[in-house]
Amino acid sequence: MYSVRRWASRHARFFEAVYNGFEAVLTSLHPLFRRIGYARMDKPVAAVEKLVKGFLFDTKMCGSCTLGATGMVCPMNCPKSMRNGPCGGVRSNGHCEIKPEMPCVWVDAFAGSRLMRDGDRIQGIQAMVDHRLQGSSSWLREVRRKKGVPEIGDAAG
Ligand code: SF4
Repeated sequence: MYSVRRWASRHARFFEAVYNGFEAVLTSLHPLFRRIGYARMDKPVAAVEKLVKGFLFDTKMCGSCTLGATGMVCPMNCPKSMRNGPCGGVRSNGHCEIKPEMPCVWVDAFAGSRLMRDGDRIQGIQAMVDHRLQGSSSWLREVRRKKGVPEIGDAAG
């Protein structure tokens, strides 16, 4: 929802703290996830993730979440799906060249990042979207990355 996602970006510091705590809890559950199987866990966790992040951030579940690096703003809401924005078409009032009624997603992302403890991550270069990950859980992917568990589909993933 548009108004909620803009509200969330204005409270990026709060959501950054909440997510960091949540991620610590998720990571501590790694042994359980491992026992059940990450592949088996992915669908139900992704369903919850979609509900929560969809409501708060209007996320598109690309599977490679950048919220923590983009001011708690989902770059997939950019009409050009710019992962490293903004494009050159931002209007002088900060609105999008494609959707003039909408503030540029990347203008909001930068503003949100200024509120965050780890806000300079927005200066990093985001990888291209891997469309094979669409709809899968970024939460679980982050835990797997931290624990060195291979990607689903890779050996032992
Ligand atoms: S102006 Fe911003 S939101 Fe619009 S297409 Fe360019 S980067 Fe995306």
